[in-house]
Amino acid sequence: MPRQLTRRQFSFASATAVGGAAVLGPGALPWIKRADSGRSRRNSLGIALVGLGSYSAGQLAPALEETEQCHLAGIVTGTPAKADSWLAQYPHLEGHVYDYGNFDSIADDDAIDVVYVVLPNSMHAEYTMRAAAAGKHVICEKPMAVTAAEAQTMIDACEAAGRSLHIGYRLHFEPHNVEAMRISRERDFGRITYAQTEFGFRLGGSADQWRLKKSLAGGGALMDVGIYAIQAARYVIGEEPVSVTAQEVKTDPVRFAEVDETITWQLRFPNNCIASSQTSYALRSERLFAAGNSGWLELRPAFVYGGIAGKTSRGPMDLPQVNQQAKHMDGVASAILAGKTLSIDGHEGLRDMRVIDAIYESIRTGQAATI
Ligand code: NAD
Repeated sequence: MPRQLTRRQFSFASATAVGGAAVLGPGALPWIKRADSGRSRRNSLGIALVGLGSYSAGQLAPALEETEQCHLAGIVTGTPAKADSWLAQYPHLEGHVYDYGNFDSIADDDAIDVVYVVLPNSMHAEYTMRAAAAGKHVICEKPMAVTAAEAQTMIDACEAAGRSLHIGYRLHFEPHNVEAMRISRERDFGRITYAQTEFGFRLGGSADQWRLKKSLAGGGALMDVGIYAIQAARYVIGEEPVSVTAQEVKTDPVRFAEVDETITWQLRFPNNCIASSQTSYALRSERLFAAGNSGWLELRPAFVYGGIAGKTSRGPMDLPQVNQQAKHMDGVASAILAGKTLSIDGHEGLRDMRVIDAIYESIRTGQAATI
């Protein structure tokens, strides 16, 4: 019998979605016990959003109206007009509005338990470490940093402060991706030995945006959406890659002078498993395919906020759409409330950063790079 989840079953499975994350490697157990100071005695944690751009305004704040174990409790913005419009929409935030100058005084705000860093990539490390020093748990958006070395300093800072660090890996709470992880882990089709993963889109907007500046973005499409293709390859193969060969092309070298536009890469895993992947800021593509000895699965689209669809060699997946951001934040909050850390933690973010570092190294040298 196929072990595919039905819509009814998923309400149970989503509560254990992190079990899917356990396939990510020996260090990635679904629950990792950590000491907690006991700050989190309430049954709903206050979250402060740092950076009120499109993801905070369009996805996270609306999702926080659906969450049960966390709520919007503060905002951090450098733009007074944004503070005013958020206060008009969320009057309960009065007294919990910060800017980048007085951010550290968030330490004295007991309404805020968790700081969610939703800033340009190169600012993630600084605000993660300042939040941890202020005694707050941290959720940091992907990519968690711009290099693996920087990611390690963030992990060290949160561990030293005794605060948890989770990454914005919302797909670990998305039913089709969770099902793909389960199929791999339980070997429905034997061991997954081959994967194709790709995520690209046409990056519109002005030439001034931070995504086109290396100093703020760290890199281009690879850091922004290629990271989903890396994650997916890792969670369907269920092993850690050992080396990578990568190639870069630019169809518009002027617009993408500072950051990568289109990259393809091949990850080699132990036991000769291979993943072939692509990312781009110039063309739209979005797919997760994985094959084992006795079958295959495909998600297409695979990584967007809604409308993810899947099938396997046995037939279509019949799984619900969920509010991924709400499930993700509730999942993290319930772990913190229980004094635990999920497998989508800083160490998991670091594994992706190591792959990203190696992809750039392979492009630079023209050789396979060891991860
Ligand atoms: P955005 O440009 O819409 O917002 C960025 C915010 O940072 C803005 O409010 C801006 O004012 C603020 N900011 C502060 N200092 C800045 C500076 N020096 N330069 C530019 N902006 C500055 O970006 P976004 O799409 O919301 O992305 C923010 C982060 O969230 C990124 O790390 C991105 O990768 C991540 N993200 C994740 C998802 C997801 O699905 N998990 C989706 C979108 C974005």
